[in-house]
Amino acid sequence: MVLQEDTQQQLKNALKARKSLEATYEAQFKILAQFVSRLSLACKGVDVDLDNRLAKLRTELNRGTDLEKLLPFIEGTNEILKQLESKQQIDVKKIQQGLAEAGKLLQQQKGLPDQLRRELRLLLGKVEQPSATVHAFLPHLTDLTKLYQTALQAKQQLDASNGADDDRYGHICRQISVELTNLLSELAFAEDSASEMDNIRQSLLDKLPIDSLLEACLKTISIIINSINRERQSAEHFLLKLNDALSSVQQAVVSSVSSSSELKQKMQLLNQQIELQIEHLGEASQKATSLEQLKSLVNDKLLAITNSLREKEQLEQLERNTLLLSLSDMERRLNELETEAVTFRKRISDQNFRSLQDALTEIPNRAAFDERYLLEIKRWQRYKKPLCVVLADVDHFKSINDNYGHSAGDKTLKVIAKTLKLNLRETDFIARYGGEEFILLFPETELAELEVPLNALREKIKKIPFKFKNVSVPISISFGVTQILTSDSGRSAFDRADEALYEAKKAGRDKVVFKPGS
Ligand code: GH3
Ligand code: MG
Ligand code: MG
Repeated sequence: MVLQEDTQQQLKNALKARKSLEATYEAQFKILAQFVSRLSLACKGVDVDLDNRLAKLRTELNRGTDLEKLLPFIEGTNEILKQLESKQQIDVKKIQQGLAEAGKLLQQQKGLPDQLRRELRLLLGKVEQPSATVHAFLPHLTDLTKLYQTALQAKQQLDASNGADDDRYGHICRQISVELTNLLSELAFAEDSASEMDNIRQSLLDKLPIDSLLEACLKTISIIINSINRERQSAEHFLLKLNDALSSVQQAVVSSVSSSSELKQKMQLLNQQIELQIEHLGEASQKATSLEQLKSLVNDKLLAITNSLREKEQLEQLERNTLLLSLSDMERRLNELETEAVTFRKRISDQNFRSLQDALTEIPNRAAFDERYLLEIKRWQRYKKPLCVVLADVDHFKSINDNYGHSAGDKTLKVIAKTLKLNLRETDFIARYGGEEFILLFPETELAELEVPLNALREKIKKIPFKFKNVSVPISISFGVTQILTSDSGRSAFDRADEALYEAKKAGRDKVVFKPGS
């Protein structure tokens, strides 16, 4: 009995315990169901399929559906969650990349404020660190958006100020257009350039942007320079022709003078002969003893005189003809020259010439040399007279500038140029080739003929009493000399002179080095 009571009690206890367990379980299940339901709500919006499944789960849990029945459904949902997780990882990467790219793009923009650049750099550093979730990037995204806003504002301000610049540019553009149009209308161009110039003039009528306008300016300048060069060449050509024509006129005069003086002598001789013959006739007629004798004597003498007179007339005719011939030749040449002079004068009045003089030393400049060199080479080809090219370079000139200043250097150059120029013949040519380099041309001169004068010139320059800051400074110069050969071009001869100069420098400077070429 006691045992029965015990067993009953135990059973009661067990039932009680079970009931309380069930109650606990039920309560826990409710909490769990609530938790799952809330959690599922928090996940809402990630994936439609997942949303539907979670909604169903919520309903079933609320209904208190048996968990066992729900298990397969929960497993299926689990599978979907797994897939979503790996997809999310990819998304995180994408967002990271997207953010970084957007940041770098902003970094590449010009004209960003420094502060903004600094912040952007910091932000990019953070964005590039790995992160597990999309949410971790959210603050970065917010920061980046702010930076974009700031950058846009800065850019807008910049554009606004550029707008003012645009106005100024617009004004300058119009001014350039007007100036250029005026300039073009004042200039007359050769036929081939004229159409090109017309195109430019036409285009100026439109409102041009600054770069097209600059292009138009550059084109105009190059056309003007070309025309000027052409003009200069034709001027040079004219002077050459003038020179040749004058020398042939002079030759004609000389030859007509000499031929007429030759004729004069002959004429005098004839006159004397005739006088003599007449005198003889008088004497002989007095001595004649018979009429017959006198007659034949007079006949002979008269014949001689007549011959002499005929000869005299022929001579006079010849003289007149020669004179006439040379006169008409001279007239023809002068006419030619005059026509050319008229066209030339017109051209001069049409155009202004480019300066061919070096402003500092007042001797011809490099452009002048280039033209003269072409001309001398042409003459050399035509007349085959020797032509020498000489390069001269002041020694250690840099140290004069360094020690005594640029203006001392300038003065030195002036004095040297003057000395060189004064010691050349009128037919020689000198130009400042650039810096402290001079170039000289010696037409109709053999290489050997230059040895003495160039060395004398070198000595002369060394003896110039230069004085800077009360210190006497000796200055020397080196020469490289060559002669133009049949196989030469202007360039190759120049290069040879340059090599010779280099050798003079290498040999210790203050030297004249000759390089005849082969
Ligand atoms: P080297 O004996 O080898 O010719 O030596 P350098 O010092 O004469 O030659 P370098 O070419 O080293 O220096 C030439 C200097 O000439 C450098 C430049 O400052 C100076 N120079 C060039 N043109 C002018 C100018 O017009 N005026 C002045 N004062 N100096 C000039
Ligand atoms: Mg030099
Ligand atoms: Mg030098």
